Amino acid sequence: MSHPTPTEETSPSNFIRQIIEHDLAANKFAQRRWNGGAGDASFQAQGQPDPAKIRTRFPPEPNGYLHIGHAKSICLNFGLAQAYGGVCHMRFDDTNPEKEEQEYVDSILDAVQWLGFGWEANGQDHLFYASDYFDFMYRAAEYLITAGHAYVDEQSADEMRANRGTLTEPGKPSPWRDRRAEENLVRFREMRAGQHADGSMVLRAKIDMAAPNMNLRDPAIYRIKRAEHHRTGNTWCIYPMYTFAHPIEDALEQITHSICTLEFEDQRPFYDWLLARLAEGGLLAEPLPKQYEFARLNLTYAVTSKRKLLQMVQEKIVDGWDDPRMPTLAGIRRRGYTPESIQLFCERIGVSKADSWIDYSILEGALRDDLDPKAARAIAVLNPLKLIIDNYPAGQSEACHAPIHPHHPELGKREFPLSRELWIEAEDFTETPPKGYFRLFPGNKVRLRYGYVVECTGCDKDANGNVVTVHCQYLPDTKSGTPGADSVKVKGNIHWVSAEHALAAEVRLFDRLFTDPHPDSGGKDFKAALNPNAKQVIQAYLEPTLAHAAPENRYQFERHGYFVADRKDFQAGQPVFNRIATLKDSWGK
Ligand code: ATP
Ligand code: MG
Repeated sequence: MSHPTPTEETSPSNFIRQIIEHDLAANKFAQRRWNGGAGDASFQAQGQPDPAKIRTRFPPEPNGYLHIGHAKSICLNFGLAQAYGGVCHMRFDDTNPEKEEQEYVDSILDAVQWLGFGWEANGQDHLFYASDYFDFMYRAAEYLITAGHAYVDEQSADEMRANRGTLTEPGKPSPWRDRRAEENLVRFREMRAGQHADGSMVLRAKIDMAAPNMNLRDPAIYRIKRAEHHRTGNTWCIYPMYTFAHPIEDALEQITHSICTLEFEDQRPFYDWLLARLAEGGLLAEPLPKQYEFARLNLTYAVTSKRKLLQMVQEKIVDGWDDPRMPTLAGIRRRGYTPESIQLFCERIGVSKADSWIDYSILEGALRDDLDPKAARAIAVLNPLKLIIDNYPAGQSEACHAPIHPHHPELGKREFPLSRELWIEAEDFTETPPKGYFRLFPGNKVRLRYGYVVECTGCDKDANGNVVTVHCQYLPDTKSGTPGADSVKVKGNIHWVSAEHALAAEVRLFDRLFTDPHPDSGGKDFKAALNPNAKQVIQAYLEPTLAHAAPENRYQFERHGYFVADRKDFQAGQPVFNRIATLKDSWGK
């Protein structure tokens, strides 16, 4: 695994774009027809010339929530279709009945739309379910049997494994390998009719037991599995294997560029073999789809495996799939990330053929770069300490003004009151200042941001010697925005909220879920690297207008970072805020 070097990859072009441009220039897909939906060769032949210049697809299995790794695939596939006048299909690869659920289907559609993509194009919906192709897949399997390209193998799973050979030794042909097509067909139909036990036999493609690529040593293509499917119920007791189903799904949908992660590289020869056989038999339209592989996203301080994410949900290590610490798109959304920041992140990490780790700070950087120019500013005191302006009259208050955004004066100003008692950050006062400390200490002057210059006069302590109140005097002619504001020069500038007027609110300070940059690499137990401080819940005092924040409104809390009003835990007038990211990358520093 190499280190993240996004330099070469940040260029807008990438090897997949080059392939597409080359294919388009060569008119490779100009003959394709599209009959309004997925279908076999004769169905597509009745259609119009395909209005889509290319077809890509995003094909998740609905067995969990999408994670940040999927975002890379979504941005790539939908982005390419947008860039080249194509269409990207939203397809559920739901051929494995055991782990799939409607809840996951719904959450996946939600996440793709949230990211800013849709599957409607040319007046049509391009939402597909692989399970709709079970009939065709069965027909394709019968065709392969009839043409002598598949056989029913009755060896046990152990025998099959043992006879598969190794990388250095060829496999041994099954005793069932040369059975006649008619007998295979009878057996396969019996499998379908439920006459045989789960696992007692499988249908295998007949290719080459000595092939150097193990995936070509007669791979299994159908298995017996009595399991209820979330869409087809109990119609089937045999199900296609993923490696058989996926190329067929692509071909029926007239996909031109089937883009997947590198671990499928070794499957490509079988992908091509299978589609070529089915095209020969007249079942599939040409030109056939082609598979291209890119490096999956590995993000440091995160795990991107649906299985491990499910484990964290089930073991209640996190509070559900949309826990803001989770790298799921539901979690990332709730954390406060914008769809634009995720798109920017995917653009920056680029697409390459080399596996690498992307540092978590690149994700946070994209969020900062997206939000800095657009997030409204606000003041929040996260670790409050009372400051009393002893020469300011009790019961009195006055308005102070600050820009909503420092670089966008056109957005106007916000207003908040100043009064005798304020909340300031505890770290903005010390009795014994270290060198270079310009904030409050006895005898020092600072500016109350957007307010007056004050001079610190001392503090009160409790019985244990902890500072409980800081005292100061304000200099009446120094208010920000008035002619006398600059008459007194100070080096420190601290933020504050009026104690009487502040909004008391729950704020959740989130951090990375793991302390190890590679929590699950090399077979490590990822749970050993959980960051116990990834979620801290505090009570903070906020600028009063934040009471009007709507769910998913995002702010930059001055000096603290980017925060969002939680989309779930929300009551009118009483939002809860999540920290999305700090202002600067300070992890481990
Ligand atoms: P997991 O291993 O977490 O279960 P998966 O690959 O099995 O993920 P699928 O639902 O099959 O999940 O994935 C849908 C698409 O998303 C596939 O095309 C897959 O290649 C892609 N994808 C999944 N994880 C990543 C990742 N980390 N980076 C880039 N693409 C990914
Ligand atoms: Mg998978």
